[in-house]
Amino acid sequence: MSEIEQAIAYLKPIANSATVGTYSKHLNVAIQALEKQVAKKMIKAYFLYSCPVCGAFQNEDKKTDIKAINYCWKCGQKIFGILEQGRD
Ligand SMILES: [Zn+2]
Repeated sequence: MSEIEQAIAYLKPIANSATVGTYSKHLNVAIQALEKQVAKKMIKAYFLYSCPVCGAFQNEDKKTDIKAINYCWKCGQKIFGILEQGRD
């Protein structure tokens, strides 16, 4: 588990607890921002790769080197292709 994933695991129960009151909203925004930094594997369908969070295609032009993509152009999710070695 990465440091970011540890921070998410620590913050989630706090954000959901009644004691933080109105701060809950802000903590959830921070958690969502952190979750975008945890790399997720792209979804492959034939020759197209899409973001696992928002579904945006990452190589619709068929020219983009999928290995060079680190973040979804649409939602900012950190992503990686399934062709990459040693990350899955
Ligand atoms: Zn996306």
